[in-house]
Amino acid sequence: MDIVKNWEALNKHGVNAVTCGHCGEILYHQQGVTMLKCYHCGELDDISSFGDLYYNQNDFNFIFGVKESQ
Ligand SMILES: [Zn+2]
Repeated sequence: MDIVKNWEALNKHGVNAVTCGHCGEILYHQQGVTMLKCYHCGELDDISSFGDLYYNQNDFNFIFGVKESQ
C-alpha cells in the first residue's frame, strides 16, 4: 500500500500524525513538540491531549482492516 510507505517516510523524517482531542481533525506535527494547536478548531493543549493516529504499521493495518503477509 502506497499510503503505508508514505506514512513510514513521513515518520522517518520526524513527522507524527495525531487527532485533535476536541474536534477529531487529523494533524501532522514535528515529533518532540510539547504543545499543539489545532488549525481547524483552534484548540491549544498539551500534546498528550492529541491521540496518535498510527503507532506502527500493524496498528495502521488494523485500522484499515488490511493484514499484509510478512
Ligand atoms: Zn480541533
